[in-house]
Parts: sequence; structure tokens; C-alpha cells
Amino acid sequence: MRERHLERIERATRSAEGAGLAAVLVPPSPDLAYLAGYDPMPLERPTMLLLRPGTAPALVVPALEHPLAAASPVGGSIDLVAWRDGDDPYAVISTRLPSEGHVAVGDHMWASHVLELQRRAPGAAFSSAAPVLGALRAVKDVEEVGALRRAGQAADATFEAIVAQRFAGRTERSIAAEIAELLVHHGHTDVDFTIVASGPHGASPHHEPGDRVIEAGDAIVLDFGGRLDGYCSDTSRTVVVGREPPGFTAVYDLVARAQEAAVAAVRPGVSATSIDRVARGVIDAEGYADHFVHRTGHGIGLEVHEPPWIVEGNDMELVPGMAFSVEPGVYLEGRFGVRIEDIVVVTDTGVERLNLSTREPLIVD
Ligand code: ZN
Ligand code: ZN
Ligand code: ZN
Repeated sequence: MRERHLERIERATRSAEGAGLAAVLVPPSPDLAYLAGYDPMPLERPTMLLLRPGTAPALVVPALEHPLAAASPVGGSIDLVAWRDGDDPYAVISTRLPSEGHVAVGDHMWASHVLELQRRAPGAAFSSAAPVLGALRAVKDVEEVGALRRAGQAADATFEAIVAQRFAGRTERSIAAEIAELLVHHGHTDVDFTIVASGPHGASPHHEPGDRVIEAGDAIVLDFGGRLDGYCSDTSRTVVVGREPPGFTAVYDLVARAQEAAVAAVRPGVSATSIDRVARGVIDAEGYADHFVHRTGHGIGLEVHEPPWIVEGNDMELVPGMAFSVEPGVYLEGRFGVRIEDIVVVTDTGVERLNLSTREPLIVD
């Protein structure tokens, strides 16, 4: 644990140096959990990991959280600086910053902290640390891929269990609650989201499950995920209740082909944007371009949405260890939606799917 986190801090500091940054400030966030193995609540009291090329890293913490920080994996190995209520924490941080040069801040830093730090270090140019930290976190090591694989298996088991249940006559909310229970039953520690979008609601990709009663002839987009060993799951399948609504089969087949083609295109050396183009190309060719209203996918790890973004214009090159969703969809206003989503990981020679539940169209009761 300790070595792993010190090595990540070291690597982040080296890439900060390579990016010409004088300092990187990391607030409580998945970035901090990744680097230091320390995951306190973000609060108005600033906590900040300071990475400074050429200077040892420091973790500035409120005094009352010093015991927590000291017990974290890197607590005994880096400089812990505690400040007490009544002290000026921004002075504690800013005196440790270079008076000029580029200072990058983690994307999860509260605006109140950023604004105050900018006021205290007028000679420094502030920017986002996302290019440096996002690129590091985008490439998973073997243990991280293992955790994502276990999360994927638990999500698949959840899908297999829910489609054995009766849907007709139940509300979206009741199915969503059952999915949440199943995610936990299969090993998730947290549930992040449970989308159950039935009938016309399926045309809204992020529909909030509500009181609509599911009936025969509905298509239902199920999209759910949570956390297992700290890593996220996220999978979507579209099922039909009793019988397909008119026009469903052709659209389902189209989305399945787009998803298949995009997954098959994943390998080291190609760009993120090229994967989006493959999925979009299949859907556009059938005249549904206007109905595929979102990017093809997003990276996944400690956060459910993180780099690499599988979207037009992202030239980031795929390398082994990158994990992301491939989730094309077609949304038909007033009728239904179809989305099929798997998490995949780039391997040395191609791709591994981390979701393996059936992508054949399923008819549920
Ligand atoms: Zn989404
Ligand atoms: Zn997703
Ligand atoms: Zn999803």
C-alpha cells in the first residue's frame, strides 16, 4: 500500500515537472485517494496535498484530522502539516507555494479555496491539474483492472438476477430499488445510480426512475452501477416486456452492431475519437445520427466518469490499461430508447470486455 502510493506521488510529481508546473495542489477527491490512499471528506477546512518538483511532497491538514492523515498509507512517509481552527490555512499553504510559475489545482477543489489561494499567490498562474492527473489515472495497473473486473462481474450478476423478475405491473422505482439491493448483494459497497427508463422514458438517456407502471410492449433501458473495492461498475442493457414495441427490433440491432464494431476497434495506438467515429458511423449510416445524442463512452475507475473521454475531438491515444465504457444509444422521442453499454479495457493486443452479460435482445415478463 505505502510503496504503491509513494510511487504514484513520485510519478505525478515527475509529470508535473514535465508539464512545466511549479506545484500541483490536490484537495480531498478521487485524485487524493489515488495518490495518497487518503480519502477524507471535502470541507470548508482546506486539506491539500502539495506536489512540488524539486521539493518533498507535503500534506496540509486541519489539526483535528491529523490522526486520520497520520494513519493513511503515506502518513508516516510525507511531511504532514497541521493547522488549527483560528489559524490562517491559506497562509500555511501559500507560504509553501512558489511565488511565481504555474500552479495546477485538482478539478474537485472548491471554488472558495481556489479563489482564496489565487488571492494569496498573485504572482502564480493557476490552471487545472486534470491534464496531468487525468492522464495518470486513465491507465490502470493490474490490481486496478482486477477491481474493475470484479465490479463488472457483480454488475453482470445483478443484470442476470433482475431479468428473472417480473416487470409488468411494477413501477420503475420498484425495479430500481431491487437493482440497488442486488448490486449490494453481489458485492458492491455503494450504489451510484440505477436508471430504469421504461417505454417513452427510455428516450431520455439519464431518466430518473419514477412512478410509471411498466406494461407489456415497453422497452426498458436499465443502466446501473456502484463501487466494489473502491472501483466503479457501469453497464446498460435494454430489454422488452412481453413483446417488442413497433420498430424496436431494427433499432436494437443497429445499436448492437454499433457497440460491437466500436468494441472491436479498441486496441493500443488508436485514438479515443476513432472509437466514437466507429460507433457513430454505424448509426449515421442508417439515418439515426440525430438520435445518438451523447458521446460513445467515458473512462471509469475510482470515478464513474473520468478520462479518457470517448468523444469526437479527443485525440488521446489508447494504451494498454485504459478502461472505459462503450455505450452507443438511439433515443426516439415519445417511443423508446435503446442503449447497450459495456466497460472494456485496452490490452497489449486489443481489448477485454469487463461486462459479459448477454447482448441478445431479452424478453422479460
Ligand atoms: Zn450516462
Ligand atoms: Zn456509462
Ligand atoms: Zn451507464
